[in-house]
Amino acid sequence: MNVTIIGTGYVGLVTGVAIASSGHRVICVGRNKEKVNEINRGKPPFYEPDLARILQKVTRNHMLRSSIDIKTSINESDVIIIAVGTPTIHGKIDLVSLQDVSQEIGKALADAKGYRVVVVKSTVTPGTTEHVVKPILERYSRKKAGSFGLCMSPEFLREGSALADALHPDRVIIGQHDERSGKMYAALYKNYKCPIVFTNLPTAEMTKYVSNSLLSTLISYSNEIALLAEKTPGVDVVDVWKGIHLDGRLSPFIAGKRIKPGIVNYLFSGCGYGGSCFPKDTNALLHYAKTIHTKTPILESVIKTNNQQPLRLVKFLQEVLGPLKNKRIAILGLTFKPDTDDIRETPALPIIQELTRLGSRVICHDPQAYQKGIPDSFRGLPIKFVKRYEDAVRKADALLLVTAWNEYKKIKPQFLKKYMKRPVVVDGRRIFNRQTFLTAGITYKGIGLG
Ligand code: NAD
Repeated sequence: MNVTIIGTGYVGLVTGVAIASSGHRVICVGRNKEKVNEINRGKPPFYEPDLARILQKVTRNHMLRSSIDIKTSINESDVIIIAVGTPTIHGKIDLVSLQDVSQEIGKALADAKGYRVVVVKSTVTPGTTEHVVKPILERYSRKKAGSFGLCMSPEFLREGSALADALHPDRVIIGQHDERSGKMYAALYKNYKCPIVFTNLPTAEMTKYVSNSLLSTLISYSNEIALLAEKTPGVDVVDVWKGIHLDGRLSPFIAGKRIKPGIVNYLFSGCGYGGSCFPKDTNALLHYAKTIHTKTPILESVIKTNNQQPLRLVKFLQEVLGPLKNKRIAILGLTFKPDTDDIRETPALPIIQELTRLGSRVICHDPQAYQKGIPDSFRGLPIKFVKRYEDAVRKADALLLVTAWNEYKKIKPQFLKKYMKRPVVVDGRRIFNRQTFLTAGITYKGIGLG
């Protein structure tokens, strides 16, 4: 099949590469000519494990190309997938890009011959495809939905393992305007082994929000438990979670072997969730609930707990160091999680803002976050970025670990003891072995340690 994907961000490009790898011809439509040229040269505009290698493969064998020409691309395609951003602004989903793109698609459909299906992959609140996208498509194409197809198919890929997730999805949810739409879109997945759930448009939209808010709820619940653990002498939340994860209902034995399902990774205490999805989607769902006059106290608490979590790490520093003015603090990890360069809504930002407000001297390290330049959200802050974490911790009064990158897991306490001004470690992800650090003479504080 011939497929156009509009939006060359994490979802658009990764989905395009996955679909092209499974034998369909893909055009990824972007707005920025330079970015489009880079993609055509096999260079992804962001970091994602293995993406560059597969992108080079599919561009070289002409299964994927990138273009800024939306009209021609749509004319050449059977399936048109919308993967533009849907940010939450002032707590409410912003549909401007989606509306713009729907207009462009509508105009292209007006002149296009033959049946095409439009698929909304961007995360949108229930009712958006039916009541926002469909009327725009119909108005600008001067055609009724049915003469073109319409689906909503949420994306569940996780940054850091996005390509693997897109190549081997655990499920495909297809909200269909009508059966013909769903059938045509499902043909894209005919070689995939995962189940396909056919449903209606708003149910598909709701499924995505439930998925993200459920995972966010597990994280905030874990962080609330960490608070209790910290106030209870002797309790270590890491061991609590170990005990919980081994519950056979969470980690069952299958064919005599215990398996550890991915869901248990969300039942663990840390500095809070971030990234481009959980914060914006929980806020968008909360706003949606208000528009339909429904109270969602659990969701409200999930968001509130998460907003408070990063600053708790600053409190830990104050407990050990006293006033933080002029203290040199090494921040390890800026991305919201390892194996990505994405710093959107990262807990590192409020931590750094608070530290600089208090007059600390902040030295940051991250393996990916500023490879292509200092991200806008960090610009203007009086902080330093270094290329090696060793240079961040040297002469520091404290190390604050925000992101659980693998290279940080290998840090030896003896190194910190030797080179830090004061060997103080605040472990926001509980990746260090507390006993080894204490034995080495480090003052160790971690989330959930009583
Ligand atoms: P992104 O910001 O990385 O990419 C969005 C892209 O859309 C950008 O490249 C932007 O230039 C492009 N765009 C905007 N308007 C355009 C237009 N008029 N024409 C062409 N391109 C246009 O966003 P993302 O992370 O890829 O997310 C896209 C959607 O997928 C969002 O709704 C998001 O919630 C959802 N989603 C994201 C993830 C994730 O892990 N990032 C996972 C699942 C779902």
